[in-house]
Parts: sequence; C-alpha cells; structure tokens
Amino acid sequence: MDVVTLPGQGPKGKVFLVGAGPGDVELLTLKAARVLSTADAVLYDALVSDDILALIPEQAEKIAVGKRAGAHSARQEEINQLLVTKAYTRKRVVRLKGGDPFIFGRGGEELQTLVEAGVEFEVVPGITAASGTSAYAGIPLTHRDFAQGVTFITGHCQLESRPMNWQGYANPANTLVVYMGILNAGLIQRELISHGRGADTPVAIVSKATTAQQQRIVGTLGELESLAKDERVVMPALMIIGEVVSLAASLSWFEPAAASTPAAKQNSI
Ligand code: SAH
Repeated sequence: MDVVTLPGQGPKGKVFLVGAGPGDVELLTLKAARVLSTADAVLYDALVSDDILALIPEQAEKIAVGKRAGAHSARQEEINQLLVTKAYTRKRVVRLKGGDPFIFGRGGEELQTLVEAGVEFEVVPGITAASGTSAYAGIPLTHRDFAQGVTFITGHCQLESRPMNWQGYANPANTLVVYMGILNAGLIQRELISHGRGADTPVAIVSKATTAQQQRIVGTLGELESLAKDERVVMPALMIIGEVVSLAASLSWFEPAAASTPAAKQNSI
C-alpha cells in the first residue's frame, strides 16, 4: 500500500514494537517497562491487560487499536499508517502487543510499513502465550521422555484451504501448540487423528493464562472439539496437544485467585 508522508519534513520519532507478554504484569521485561514509562503515545491491542496499561504515563496518548478474531485486513493497514503518522508528531511511539510481537502478532508487517516510510524503530520481545501458558499450567513444552520438539501453529480461519502439514503436526514425539484455534478445534482433532496421532493423546485448553482468571481444561485429543465448547473456555485461549500435558496434574503450582475473589473477575484482559 502507499504510505502517506508529509512533504518537506521527516519523521521525528521512533517506534518501539513491544511485547507485553501474556497477561501477568510481572511477565513484562524490564526493557518493556522502561520503554513504556517514557512513551509519548501508545497504540495497544485488545490482548494487553489492564495492569500493563496502568503503567503508561498519564500524559501519554493512549490509542486502542485492538483487534479480535474476524477483523478486516483493512484495519491492519490503518494501524500501519497510524504508526507512521504518529512518528511524525511524537518522539517515542510504543506499539504494544500481547505476547511476543513476532509470534502471530503481525509485528513484521507493521515494521515493513515503517521501513517504507523511513521511520526508525526498535523491537522489544515479550513472553509468548505458549511460554506463559506452559509455565502457569504446569505443562513443559519439551521433556526428554515425552517431546523432542514443539511447534506453534495458528488455528485461525480457513485451515482447510491452507497448506497445513498435518502429517508433521501429528508426530507423537512433538508438542503442538495452537494459537487462535478454539473455533477450529473439531477440524484440528479430525486432521490430527486421521494423520495418525492417537485419540488418547492428552490435550489442554488454557484460557486467560497467567491471569487471575486462568482456567485449564485437560482431556484427550478425541474430546478436543467438545472440550473447546466448555463454558469455561473464554478468549483468549490456547491449546496444547501432546504427551507433555500428562505432567499437568503433578506440575501445577499456579492457583488463580479468581475463584475466591469475585472482584478480580472484573479486571479481565
Ligand atoms: N503475539 C501473541 C499471540 C497473538 S495471537 C503471543 O505471542 O502470545 C492471539 C492468540 O494468542 C489467542 O487467540 C490465544 O490463542 C493466544 N493467547 C494470547 N494470550 C493468551 C493468554 N493469556 N492465554 C491463553 N492464550 C492466549
């Protein structure tokens, strides 16, 4: 797309593409917290938690550009363009994204627009949802006895028409983490089983991981579709598929406070 620039003057600011982690404010990196504390403008996604937004200085301009599943791609172009125009009027523009900006975060696309427009930038990584979920749900993603590798895939939209490597994903010695896959749980279940992954493979669906509202549901691959319809599954939610999930019962340590403090429920991400 064409980038609109103002004639006769260059951008004066810099854009910081910052990962906010999966929810728990303490999972923000020191660098992310420092960059946020000196921001002039912050463009943030729907996935960024309220506790993290509370770290933005009072005087900074805060712009919600949050997208949820189903938003149009035109919207993404608007966000890209807004980053460029903000860099003309603000010195330190922060683009704050849930998790890590380079994992299913469109961080790459946004930076490409900045490069085209000649805007300087830095990237601050964040803890991706898979890592946060794994730690807070007691599910190591690899383990010498159970999984020699881990694969992150997106389960978003039209999986049928995408070149999905189901054969590879069905490898029993590998952990599969599915982002944005809840609506396609039935298809994922059927494809993995028909490509040889056992229907008794343990699976977990974890909602709002690392927050006081975290919910973890454990079952088998043969039940994935029905587990995804459980009323405890709310967005955002991640699926972990593989033998490592069998460790969840013994390695759990995080006890979300939501069950005992109803007030915490209002503070949702
Ligand atoms: N860039 C982000 C991912 C964005 S895609 C990252 O690195 O984490 C959005 C998807 O991430 C959601 O649909 C969900 O599958 C997952 N996700 C993000 N935060 C989550 C959380 N707190 N708990 C469970 N899943 C989460």
